[in-house]
Amino acid sequence: MADFRVDDSLCTGCGLCAASCPELFEVGDDNKAHVKPQGTCDKDPDEIVSECPVNAITAE
Ligand code: SF4
Repeated sequence: MADFRVDDSLCTGCGLCAASCPELFEVGDDNKAHVKPQGTCDKDPDEIVSECPVNAITAE
């Protein structure tokens, strides 16, 4: 499992990542996506990264 990060300065809180991978991302009260501790998603990391419309997600 890749190590995912969300750049708060870019995230618009659209919720697409949380809808796509609900066990990995959640949108907080700050209207920013956060990576859940120990979160997982079966999708390919490149696909997860590419689904963010503002390129706020990175994977290492
Ligand atoms: S898809 Fe991108 S912009 Fe939308 S909530 Fe997730 S990280 Fe933020």
